[in-house]
Amino acid sequence: MTKKIKEDEKKEQTPQKDDTSSDSKKKKSKLTPLMAQYFETKKEYQDCLLFYRLGDFYELFFDDAVTASRELDITLTKRGHIDGEDIPLCGVPFHAYEPYLARLVKKGYKVAICEQMETPEEAQKREGRNATIRREVIRVVTAGTLTEDALLPAKKNNYLLSIVFEDDQKVGLAWADLSTGDFYSETVPVIMLYSTLVQLDMAEILISEKDRNNKLLKQVQTEFPERISYLNQTFFNFLTAVETVENAFNIKFLDGLGDFNHAEVTAAGVVLSYLKITQKTLENSLKPLKRITTEQFMEIDASTRNSLELFYPLNDVKGAYSLFKVLDKTLTNAGGRLLARSLSAPLLNVEEINRRLDAISFLIDHPKIREEISGHLKGMPDMERCLSRIALGRCGPRDLAMLLIGLTASISAHTVFNLFQEDLPPLLSELHKNLNNFNAFRADIERALKSDLPVLTRDGNFIEWGYDEGLDSLRQERTDLKQELQRFQISYANLTGVKNLKVSYNSVAGYFVEVPFKQSSVFLKHPEWGFILRQTTTTASRYSTPELMEVEQKLNNLDNRIQFIEENLFNDLIKRVLQGREEISQSAQALALLDMLMGLAELAIENNYCRPIVDYSTAFDVRGGRHPVVEYSLKKEHAPFVENDCIMDEKGYLWLLTGPNMAGKSTFLRQNALIAIMAQMGSFVPATSAHIGVVDKLFSRVGASDNLARGQSTFMVEMVETAVILNRATPKSLVILDEIGRGTATFDGLSIAWATMEYLHDQCQCRGLFATHYHELILLKEKLSHLSLHRMETKDWNGEVVFLHTVGEGSVDKSYGIHVAKLAGLPSSVIQRAEQILQGLQDKKKKIENLMGELPLFSAVLEKEKKEKTPVEKELTFLNLDSMTPKEALDALYRLKGMLE
Ligand code: ATP
Repeated sequence: MTKKIKEDEKKEQTPQKDDTSSDSKKKKSKLTPLMAQYFETKKEYQDCLLFYRLGDFYELFFDDAVTASRELDITLTKRGHIDGEDIPLCGVPFHAYEPYLARLVKKGYKVAICEQMETPEEAQKREGRNATIRREVIRVVTAGTLTEDALLPAKKNNYLLSIVFEDDQKVGLAWADLSTGDFYSETVPVIMLYSTLVQLDMAEILISEKDRNNKLLKQVQTEFPERISYLNQTFFNFLTAVETVENAFNIKFLDGLGDFNHAEVTAAGVVLSYLKITQKTLENSLKPLKRITTEQFMEIDASTRNSLELFYPLNDVKGAYSLFKVLDKTLTNAGGRLLARSLSAPLLNVEEINRRLDAISFLIDHPKIREEISGHLKGMPDMERCLSRIALGRCGPRDLAMLLIGLTASISAHTVFNLFQEDLPPLLSELHKNLNNFNAFRADIERALKSDLPVLTRDGNFIEWGYDEGLDSLRQERTDLKQELQRFQISYANLTGVKNLKVSYNSVAGYFVEVPFKQSSVFLKHPEWGFILRQTTTTASRYSTPELMEVEQKLNNLDNRIQFIEENLFNDLIKRVLQGREEISQSAQALALLDMLMGLAELAIENNYCRPIVDYSTAFDVRGGRHPVVEYSLKKEHAPFVENDCIMDEKGYLWLLTGPNMAGKSTFLRQNALIAIMAQMGSFVPATSAHIGVVDKLFSRVGASDNLARGQSTFMVEMVETAVILNRATPKSLVILDEIGRGTATFDGLSIAWATMEYLHDQCQCRGLFATHYHELILLKEKLSHLSLHRMETKDWNGEVVFLHTVGEGSVDKSYGIHVAKLAGLPSSVIQRAEQILQGLQDKKKKIENLMGELPLFSAVLEKEKKEKTPVEKELTFLNLDSMTPKEALDALYRLKGMLE
């Protein structure tokens, strides 16, 4: 930017104290043109902080300035005044505004970016010397509409989601990631709304003003208050939404995209309309809407996700890891995002799971392939996001170069697989095709771009020599003209005798002859030489000449034409990229998938994971299972992890696990849930062998937590979560219950735990692991035929208890709570006193057990114990149904019926 331009801008940066002070005291109608423009713009963006471009800064005024200076911790100044009052002002540099923007958006603010749409010179040409530069809001930046790599989380999608109620039972959702172009919709039962939102972990939620007080949204509002944007109900009109979706994807009828219900279409329309008003255009912003059906994925509710620490450790302390952190060996952001999505939504389709497992097995067996491909993936740019920026027109030469690196990596990866084409498992074979399905334009981009590129196209000089003849000849002309300037310098020196004069350039004076001050007098003596004095500095005088002015004009002209041609060539390349967007996107996705599979292969090798057998049975047979995260942490401390088997079958699909505190119950429970998740996301698992019948829903209730914000006590939360499990679990589900009923009086809690076990066993008939300190529950073994008892083994060692962390058959009747309290460092007087009390209580235990026997809960067991088996029951017990032919089964049925007559 020239000095002159900067000076002009400064002039425009009114209100100027001197020339407006008296006027501004009178009334607002005497606003400077700049302030009038500011107010006009701000009127439209009341709910945003307005970043108002003034020269090299984005300035904020009035309340926006106060807010931004407070939130960003930057100086609040004042400039000029209005109606006699100072105008608060603060600003952020235009060249480095992104970190400031990121902080504001993270805090839930929306920021309207108001740009200068012309240069001060253009403004002056249009309106004369005192012109106000034309400015427009080019974009409103919100948490859900980010596209800049620097503002986005690298390995997580950044979703903008809208919620539309179909009725009281169902809700339509649509969500888009503007930074990758992904756009989905889904209908979920209202009771699953919160869980689905936790799964998507969206950045911004769009809700109708009308639903502000909708009770069904209470939990969403309580949990995500800062992520919600309330929109006028007009956004939520179905017919408008249909039109918006059709226009956005240039289709005549919505049906062309697929089968969507009213709520889904409306939700998609809301997302698109919001993007349109914030991004100012919808062109090329998103890929076609895709419908997701919940039935494709394992159902994992919000509390299960939390308790299993899939993405965030429960205690976010140093050294605490989430499962994602441990599993993530991806080398690219896109691969990381895909891994996160796969972990978040494990599959139900066995064929799909096995396709992934086959691919991982292949990669494990081919270390050379892995080595070569990781070489290509390392340092890969975020191709998906880069492509989206290109599609949105927010790109420069460097984005094109990034895309080129991605496309080159894609072709290289393709070549690596060429040799193995015949042997590739189906998923890799498909991926192989997609890695190289784009047109020849990659070579053109490569030919077109220089190696050292500017950020913005308008900075120019990014097209390589030899790419365009016209451009080359203009550039040559420019070089020649510049040489002409050198010749001028020599001839002026000869003419004037001033040997050290120089032809130079600056943006204010243009081209000039610079003569040291002491020698400049000779110029005054010879006006016929035609030197015109333009500037004097302390050391030199600067002159221009008609020839210099002519060359300067020619150079300016050439510069403009060169810039025009470069921009046109750039736009042509962009157009070709956009024409091939789908293919490039497929390649980017193929690379992301390859990265994820490669990462999972490395993970399996590094940690000695095994390939699970996954089918549609209800098997759960894990041998030598480990907890991936605990194992990872222990490894860092060079401590071993003790592996354990878990076989939930007909003999015992429900396990009751007892054991002392700290013995490893929770670890064991969770590790089996995590193994199921990992198997169904298509990963190898931490075990020596594993056979998993697909789990349709996974529930995990671990430990006690309260939700005071939602007005729920610890016990209430526990009961709500238990209710969800009992109402939703099916025979294909897996339920992990770590203690239940601990938050209330012993008998209440025990009764609830007892009844819950019965219900899971008889009604849900699901696979389940139940850890408890209620040793009384062991009695259930007599009543529940598919219940098996297990315990955490311990050993006495010199009077101390040693936790072996192994799971054995049977049960324990001691908790060793006092032992753990001792380990934790409770004062020895407290420990001694506790031991005394325990002794006393144990003496009374017999009495309590007698009392238990009288409870109706337990009488069923006792009755059953007392009751003799009937002949029909005895006969039934000995039938081996699995080995009978249909004829034998029918005969047996007649025999049994005969026994009843
Ligand atoms: P509480 O009843 O008090 O909740 P718990 O029986 O559930 O205890 P965990 O929390 O699972 O016990 O385990 C306690 C600690 O023991 C873990 O933090 C872990 O460090 C260690 N541990 C658990 N299982 C194993 C294992 N299989 N191998 C090695 N260490 C283990």
